[in-house]
Order: sequence, then structure tokens, then C-alpha cells
Amino acid sequence: KKLVIPNKAESVKVVVRCRPMNEKEIKDGHERTVDMTVKKGLIEVRNPKGLSSEAPKSFTFDSVYDWNSIQLELYDETFRDLVQSVIEGFNGTIFAYGQTGTGKTHTMQGIKNDPEQRGVIPNSFEHIFQHISRSENQQYLIRASYLEIYMEEIRDLLSKDHTKRLELKERPDTGVYVKDLSSFVTKSIKEIEHVMNVGNANRAVGATDMNAHSSRSHAIFIITIECSAMAEDGENHIRVGRLNLVDLAGSERQSKTQSQGDRFKEATKINLSLSALCNVISALVDGHSTHVPYRDSKLTRLLQDSLGGNAKTVMVANIGPASYNYDETLSTLRYANRAKNI
Ligand code: ADP
Ligand code: MG
Repeated sequence: KKLVIPNKAESVKVVVRCRPMNEKEIKDGHERTVDMTVKKGLIEVRNPKGLSSEAPKSFTFDSVYDWNSIQLELYDETFRDLVQSVIEGFNGTIFAYGQTGTGKTHTMQGIKNDPEQRGVIPNSFEHIFQHISRSENQQYLIRASYLEIYMEEIRDLLSKDHTKRLELKERPDTGVYVKDLSSFVTKSIKEIEHVMNVGNANRAVGATDMNAHSSRSHAIFIITIECSAMAEDGENHIRVGRLNLVDLAGSERQSKTQSQGDRFKEATKINLSLSALCNVISALVDGHSTHVPYRDSKLTRLLQDSLGGNAKTVMVANIGPASYNYDETLSTLRYANRAKNI
């Protein structure tokens, strides 16, 4: 079967989402420093400490989503095509990037038991299983894996012993893979949701502070979609697509006083893998790079076969609206901008 190769510009999309002010920020009377013109993909950030004459910093992206954005709208406009291409046998990766507390997990998972607030992961379950229920003459096999990368070590979130470190391996036929990573066949939305919930629960085990832990590790939910269909030549053809749903570690800079010992080591590893990711994406967007530095981190190495080539990538950069987030917001927008072009 002839493959349609999407062009470079279309295969990597970078969008920005700003969460609403939370109750505490409103109560404390925080000023909003972010302005967005959604139709133009424009974001302007005012320096809260600057002079009133200082021009705001402005950025443009493929799409921007403000505090009024709706989960399903994001799914339909920004993620649905990517998931559809995975159903059709290509690889795809969705990243949520940003400082802790800006909505990465909200974007990926959403709010449990609230259908309107479902994030991209549960929305993709619905999309995939709905597609399967409507298709004839095709057999689908859906498998799910869930892992995290903490301090450049890979752990299986679905294994009984999820503290065990797993290794990355490479084979000429199947490419890069995680040795001994568990994978569960799921036949319904309920089953795959259960897998996700088990992984989420395991993520918290052993962590003295769940929020602190989750902000320092990358979580990757992987859905493999195998489709077997009878082609016109009378033979069975199998195509396999892989969907990687990545909730990245928080991008915030650790302050010097806080980051000593283990914290300092964690911060260094997080910076390393997030900058490696940025370098890989910008090399792919550039399209002329002779070298894509996949090997610089576990994250990029693991996702090597799902970044570039025929694969689609969407990065959602999450930001907060309040003035005290100014420095981190600018740093996130600069990162997203660097990922988008050079
Ligand atoms: P992160 O994973 O980046 O640390 P969270 O997703 O946990 O951040 O979001 C922090 C808080 O803000 C959560 O209580 C979440 O429900 C809320 N939140 C984030 N984004 C939105 C949004 N777009 N709309 C409403 N609430 C949001
Ligand atoms: Mg989170």
C-alpha cells in the first residue's frame, strides 16, 4: 500500500493553552498579564514590573486557546486528526508542556467522571472505540502500556513491580522499544480506562508527595492500534499505529536555594530531557537538519519512531495567566516558539 507522506509543516503542530485564573488567584486579586487573540493565534504578555510604555512580548502559534477553551473543542481542532492517522497506521505523539499547575494533566486526563471535562486521553479512547464499532471487514487489536521516566530511568506503571528500571533496546525490524514493558489488550473503553486508572494509581505509590513526584517525571500512555483487513489482492494486510500521550515533567526552573542534592539532580535531568525534546522537534520542523539528536535523552530516544518521518506531533504548551507566573510564562512561550521554528 502506498503511504501518503504529510509535509513537514503539517506533521508538527505547536499550540498554546492558557488556563483560567483559579479561585485563590481571583481572591488574592492577581492581575492577568496574558492577552490572547484566539482567531489570529496571537498571545501578548505584559511585564508586570515593566514601565507602562513597555510593549508587550508577542508570539503567534498554529492555534492558541484561552481560559474559555473547551476540552472537546481542543480535541476536535487539534488532536482528532492525529489520532485518526494513528487509527490508519501511522505513529503520533501528543505532548503537554509547561510549568507545574498550568494544566498539563488537565489537558491530558481532564477531570474524572465529568464527561465535559474529559482530556485528550479519554477522548481518544472514545474516538478509537467508536471508529472500531463502526468499521466493517476490519479487525482491530488495541493494546495499552503506561510508563514513566523519572531521573532518566524508565518504570512500568502497569507492572506489579513498578519500581523496577526498564531498558531501552533497538531492533532493526521493530525499532526502539522498552524491554519487558507490559502491554494489555483492551476490548472496550471501560477496559482501557481501567488500565489508565491502574497506572495513575501506581504513579502515586511510593511518592511521599504525589504532586511533587508527578511534576518531576514524564508520564507516557501508549496505545497501539493494530488493524488487519482483507485487501483487494485477497491477502490479509496488517497495519500498526502507535499513539503516545505524554504528560511532561514541570518545566519550572528550580530556585538555587531549593535545588540541592536530589532536587538538583532531578532538575538537571528534567532540563536535559526537555531541551533534548525541543532540539529534536525544531530539527524536524526545520526539515533541513542532517542530524536529529534523538539520542540525547531517554524521552526522545523512546519516541524516536514516533517523531519525524510519517509521524504526527502536537505539542500543547500550557501557561498560567497571573502576573506572578510572568517569568515562567515567557520561558514556556519561548520554548514553544523554538520548537516551532528556529
Ligand atoms: P499540571 O499538570 O500542569 O501541574 P494541572 O492539570 O494539575 O496542572 O492543573 C492545575 C489545576 O488547574 C487543576 O486543579 C486543574 O483542574 C486546573 N485547570 C488547569 N487547566 C484548566 C482549564 N483549562 N480549565 C479549568 N481548570 C483548569
Ligand atoms: Mg500534572
